[in-house]
Formats: sequence, C-alpha cells, structure tokens
Amino acid sequence: TSLFNHLDTMPGDPIFGLMSLYAKDPAEEKASLTIGVYRDEQGKPWVLPTVRKVEKMIAEDVATNHEYLPMEGLHAFVESARDLLFGNPSPALTSRIGSLQTISGTGAVHLGARFLNDSLQPKRIWVSDPTWGNHHAIFDIAAPAVEQKMYPYYDAATCSLNFSGMMETLEEQAQPGDVILLHACAHNPTGIDPTKEQWKLIADLCERKHLFPFFDSAYQGFASGDVDEDAWAVRHFVDRGTLELVVAQSFSKNFGLYGQRVGAFHIVTADEQARDKALSHLIYLQRAEISNPPVYGARIVAFILQNAELKAEWEQDLLIMSGRIKTMRAALFGALQELKTPGNWQHIVDQNGMFSYTGLSEKQVLALRKEHIYLLTSGRASISGLNRDNVKMVAKAIDKVVR
Ligand code: PMP
Repeated sequence: TSLFNHLDTMPGDPIFGLMSLYAKDPAEEKASLTIGVYRDEQGKPWVLPTVRKVEKMIAEDVATNHEYLPMEGLHAFVESARDLLFGNPSPALTSRIGSLQTISGTGAVHLGARFLNDSLQPKRIWVSDPTWGNHHAIFDIAAPAVEQKMYPYYDAATCSLNFSGMMETLEEQAQPGDVILLHACAHNPTGIDPTKEQWKLIADLCERKHLFPFFDSAYQGFASGDVDEDAWAVRHFVDRGTLELVVAQSFSKNFGLYGQRVGAFHIVTADEQARDKALSHLIYLQRAEISNPPVYGARIVAFILQNAELKAEWEQDLLIMSGRIKTMRAALFGALQELKTPGNWQHIVDQNGMFSYTGLSEKQVLALRKEHIYLLTSGRASISGLNRDNVKMVAKAIDKVVR
C-alpha cells in the first residue's frame, strides 16, 4: 500500500485531451481548432524565419556558452523585453520599472501571483469571466489565501464585450486593494478586447477604487500585427502616472518560441526606492523557485530586439502570422455567409488574436466532433488551425450542426 492512495485523481487538461482525440481520429479530412499555437497554411508549426536565422548565428558564434544566467535573467533580454512592452521608456520611467526574466508567461503570472500574495496580501483577485483556464490554477497554488472573483466579460447574446456588466460589478463589489487581472490584448479565450475609450474607463475605475492592475500580455504584436498598438492599454495605464501595476509578458506566440519558455515580469512602482525593494523580493522568490531562468530562447529574442534590421524582419514575421489569422477569420465568415448559415457570424471577424469565441453551444461542439472538427466545449476555436484547404469543410460542418 502506498502513502499516496488517499489522493484523488486530478482532472486532465481538456485541451491536451482533445489534441490526443484529434490525433487518433483516422478521418482524412479533419481539423484541430484546439490549442493556441500558430499553424501555417499547411497546418504545420512555423519557425519564424528571423528566429531561424538568428539561431544559426548564435550556433556559429564561438563565444556562445551555456553558463548560468544571473538570477534576474539575461540583461540584454530583460531590457529589450521591457522596452518592447513600455515603448522605449524614458530614464525617469525606467527607474521605476523592475524587470526580471521568467519561465515564459505562465512563470511570470505565477511569480506575480506569489509576489503580490506576500507583499500586498490582497483579499481578492478579479479575473474576467471567462479567462485563460490556467489563471485559476496558478492563483490557486501561488496565492491560495486570495479569493478569486470573476467580473462579467462576455455577452453570449451578441458574442461581444459585456462592458457595462464588467464595470457595474467592479464598481459595486470590488474593494480597495483588490487585484484586477486584465489581458493586455487578444483576450484568451474570447478574442474580445476593450476599445481604447473603454480601457480609459477601466483605468479610471482602478484609480478611483484603488484596484491593483495585473496585466497579462501574451500576444503583443500577434493580435494587430503592430507591437505598439497591442501594448496600448498597458502604456495608457502607465502614462497616467497614478497607478502602480505589474505585467506578465510572454514571448511564446509573438516569437513562436513556445517550448523555449521565454518571458518576463515587470513591476511599475511610484518611485525608484520601492522598485528596488520589490525587485529584491522578486529575485529572492526566483532564487528559491528556479535559481535562474533558461538562456537559449532569451538569447534569440535579445539578439533580434537589439538589432534594428532584425527587429524589422521580425515585425514582418508578425504580420504574416496576424495577417493569415485575419484572412482565415474572413474566409470562415465568408463561407458561412455563402452557405446562409443561420445566425450572425460577424463576431468571427470582429474578434481578435488567436481565438474566436464562436457562440457554438456545447451540444453543437460535440456534434462537430462527429464531423471530425475539434474545438473546446466552450465554443472557443483556435483560428490558426484553419487554412485554405479545411476552411470550407469546417464551415459546412458548422452549417450542418446549427441547422
Ligand atoms: N496568458 C495567456 C492569456 C495565455 O493565453 C497564455 C498562453 N496560452 C499564457 C499566459 C502563457 O503562455 P506561456 O507560458 O507559453 O508563455
């Protein structure tokens, strides 16, 4: 008998479960719209050409070694990550930003959750309903004493933002000192972002109610194709000069470096002294949790961001990815219109980033599986799983299950 027999079996991740169902499906025509990873027109993983080029340069550089990084990470990477996010901040602002390298976006959210848990001891964290599923799990394990609350976000009737519901709930129920988690752009899973005017009102609310903003930035440049546009909300909150905040930043999608675990965590404080203290705590946590972050992917990102020519090439890669996704949104919408599929599908083109919350019900999603099309039961579809070859078949199947 084992000491571990008392354990329950934890539920598996629904996305990874679906991926294995898809892999086992013998049908020749099938489509996987599950995981949030970019796929090219052939449905294959895509190594960004700029990344490939830099990998070769790094491999051939005899000075490359595999020593440990400092605890806070590769300096060239951390600085370029900060500058990309905050838009080349002024020295005055830079002195108020503390940054360190993390195990991608997940590690950054984790580090931030644990740090805020210890330093601010908030009573509640507000997350959007729905949010990236892992947000719940990360805050569960890293900030167990913090109650998780959800603010309305998605309006199922229109497949768009329930802005008034969000604002009313926060206005009535959020308390000073609560943390509010915000997706910087390309909200996962809905693909719906606030407008700039709405972002300003959210920032007003944070100021007025003394809520602490925690941005999750996993798709900068991947959503609109423009790194500055996608960072607008974060920069607006910072530019107001009245808010302290933190940001978890991922380079998985915008550099296609999923498996290399490249990310950063940033804190913006009111003054330099507070920044230094906060950073010392973050580095202390980092030491205990991972000692120091991995070097390979960070080196690639730093190499690209620190060279104007390579950065421009990478921005072209971003346009290829965001452009293909937009084209596929339009193609799916067009095909559904052609089929005169009942319902309004405009939201498929209006939504943004990797995902579309299609509005398909769980029953319809399960019926789609019989047509060899895989998406989450929430109706979330990963648009990059579409390509010219399968989009018509996906539209036909959707048409069939909604009639
Ligand atoms: N936050 C959000 C909202 C995400 O969608 C993701 C990727 N699924 C992440 C964080 C973290 O991704 P990673 O750890 O690969 O950077």
